Amino acid sequence: FNSTYKPLKDSNGEVYAIIHASMDVTKQVQLQQQKDEFLGIASHELKTPVTSIKAYAQVLERMIRNEGDEKKANMVRKMDQQLNRLTGLIGDLLDVTKIQSGKMTFNPVEFDFDTAVEEITGEMQHISSKHRIICDLTSRAVVYADKERIGQVITNFLSNAIKYSADADEINVATFTHDEEVILSVKDYGIGISEDMQHLVFDQFYRVGGNLQHTYPGLGLGLYISAEIIKNEGGRIWVESTVGQGATFFFALKIKSFR
Ligand code: ADP
Repeated sequence: FNSTYKPLKDSNGEVYAIIHASMDVTKQVQLQQQKDEFLGIASHELKTPVTSIKAYAQVLERMIRNEGDEKKANMVRKMDQQLNRLTGLIGDLLDVTKIQSGKMTFNPVEFDFDTAVEEITGEMQHISSKHRIICDLTSRAVVYADKERIGQVITNFLSNAIKYSADADEINVATFTHDEEVILSVKDYGIGISEDMQHLVFDQFYRVGGNLQHTYPGLGLGLYISAEIIKNEGGRIWVESTVGQGATFFFALKIKSFR
C-alpha cells in the first residue's frame, strides 16, 4: 500500500483531524514485474536465433571468400557486423532485466589492468578504421574485479567515443593512479555533452536529444549498465565535457597491488 497522511489544522494551528489516504499498488507492482519478466524472456528468445544466424554467416563468408568472390564475401561480412550490433542490443536488454531483478552476477578475479585495457583497445581498433586509438597506459595496477564486466564498460566508452565523434580521427585512452585508485579515461573530440546534461547520461534510457537521435542510434542503456557495473565493483564513474569539443569518460577502481 502507498499511504499518505495530511493533518487538518484549525485557525489556532491545532490539529483537529488527520486525513489518511491509502492506495493499493499490488496491481501496479505485479504489472511492472510482468513487464520485466517479459523483457527478460523476449531478449533471451531473440538471442538464440541471432547466435545461430551469426554462426552461419561466418561459415558462409569463409566459403565465399575461398571461392574467390570478394564482393559477395564482403556483403556477408556486412551482415555479420550488423548481427554484432543486434547481439549487443539484445545483451544490453538482458543486462537491464538482470540489474532490475538483482540477478546480475559478478565473478571477480585478479588481473593486470593495463593489459586488459590494451586487449580491448586492440579489438576496438578493428571496428573503426577512421579513428586512431592512442593509448598511454601507465598504471601498472592489478585489480580484483569481474574482468568481463570491466571490459564491457571499456568497450562501451570506446564505442560511444567512436559513435559520437564521427568527424574526428583520434581517441585517447589512458590509465593512471591516484591515491588508492586506478583510473581509466577515454577522451574523444566529438559532439560533447552540455553541463546540464552530464549528470543524466548514466540514467536508464537517457539519450542524446532532438533530431540527433536519428544520427546516433541506440537504446540509451550502455552507460546505465556501465554505471551499475562500476558501482557494484565499488568504484566511481563520471564524465567531463565541453559541447562541440568532445567528452572524456572516466572510471576508478580500487588498486589491489602493483605488477
Ligand atoms: P546510447 O549511446 O545508446 O544512446 P548510452 O547510455 O551509451 O546510450 O549513452 C547515453 C547518452 O549519453 C547518449 O545518447 C549521448 O547523448 C551521451 N553520450 C554518451 N557517450 C558520449 C560521447 N562520447 N560523446 C557525447 N555524448 C555521449
